[in-house]
Amino acid sequence: MKALGKVEEVDVIVVGAGPAGSTAAERAAAAGASVLLIDRKEEVGSPVQCGGFLPEAHELQALMPHADLPATLVEIPERCVLHRTEIQRLYAPSGRSKEFPVDGRVIDRRAFDRHLAYRAISAGAKMFVGTTAAPERGFLRLRGRGSGLLSPRVVVGADGPASALARSLGVSHRMEMGICLELEMAGVEIDAQAAEMYFGTRFAPGGYAWIIPLGEEIANVGVGVRRSYMDEKMTLSALLDRFIMDHPIAGPRLRRGQVMAVMRGTVPAGGMVGPIQGGRILLAGDAAGHVMATSGGGIPLAVVAGSIAGLMAARSLQGEASLNDYPRMIHESFGRELDRSVQMRRLVDLLMKRDHLMDTLFDHIDAEQMKAMQRGSIPGALGRICDALARSG
Ligand SMILES: Cc1cc2nc3c(=O)[nH]c(=O)nc-3n(C[C@H](O)[C@H](O)[C@H](O)COP(=O)(O)OP(=O)(O)OC[C@H]3O[C@@H](n4cnc5c(N)ncnc54)[C@H](O)[C@@H]3O)c2cc1C
Repeated sequence: MKALGKVEEVDVIVVGAGPAGSTAAERAAAAGASVLLIDRKEEVGSPVQCGGFLPEAHELQALMPHADLPATLVEIPERCVLHRTEIQRLYAPSGRSKEFPVDGRVIDRRAFDRHLAYRAISAGAKMFVGTTAAPERGFLRLRGRGSGLLSPRVVVGADGPASALARSLGVSHRMEMGICLELEMAGVEIDAQAAEMYFGTRFAPGGYAWIIPLGEEIANVGVGVRRSYMDEKMTLSALLDRFIMDHPIAGPRLRRGQVMAVMRGTVPAGGMVGPIQGGRILLAGDAAGHVMATSGGGIPLAVVAGSIAGLMAARSLQGEASLNDYPRMIHESFGRELDRSVQMRRLVDLLMKRDHLMDTLFDHIDAEQMKAMQRGSIPGALGRICDALARSG
């Protein structure tokens, strides 16, 4: 296959070379399918739209106890890991904090995405960057460096939060989204061991602000909120500025820092979309809403879902499985934890509207319970409230 021009027919086309897509392409190619991986970006992994926080493998296994973690989540080459943290610290609107141990890696997303794409190519996948896919009357239209009207036997839609493949399955893109703005800042006085989350209506209405250390004096500093919680006149950059300049705890540590990069993007916040499979299309990662609603973390779920999608694609071609089994496989892998994280977030939503309610929640939950909540396993009475909320829709 040439690097430019008309594309030949293949068994599987994977749309999107993020963590979900490259993992799907690797798994399908390794199982013997002919695979084409495409991305509309000219360079895999760039521009980065991510904080890069990824818990260590044992933390991920606790987060998704039923999932088979692909090796790429367990052993990450050191050149893709910028920094490691040991603590997660959460700040209430009052400024009081609680912390618990979480072994975290902060990955260089550009390097990580390229590493995953390289593995897919090594497994036998072909690749076209600078190529956009659009569903067209039952076919897939490719435009850009690679072009053609193709009819692959399986399409993996790993095309991120604004997925065209998801829309073609009728997924409403009114689905709940978090909007995020993040700055890479140098010259900041941070706690390099701690990934921090800050709550409060003044700085992060309907979401949270974060500091993810990239080293001793360098960090990703961001804010992720939901539009419906924001004052109409408020912008995301004004909110982040306010956090950096005025937050009573974060401000003094951040305000003398210098900005080295600006990143923005959206994150699905409402859990798994329905349907995640239709005909020969499988959705994985952000395209399918595979993001923990409590944290906005999507890298681990994207890799796990991509791996299942790639395997199911190959096995269906070999007549060993049906694509219709894909949703069940995903549900068995991490569906319960993902659903729980949505229920948890809905409960916290009620409290997020009033700072004093969030403060009360903080005061009544200990650090271990907070860690459990972040993982979507909900302690005692809170769990029962979530179940009741889920039943009431
Ligand atoms: C500011 C921000 C910070 C975040 N921080 C974290 C974090 O610290 N930890 C964490 O776990 N998660 C974080 N996330 C979420 C995480 O980035 C995503 O969940 C993750 O990237 C999902 O991977 P994916 O492969 O599904 O999609 P993506 O990584 O979005 O990849 C999708 C790819 O599809 C391509 N594409 C889209 N449409 C087409 C098309 N029509 N044709 C061809 N190609 C197409 C895109 O170019 C893109 O490369 C953050 C998100 C944002 C926005």
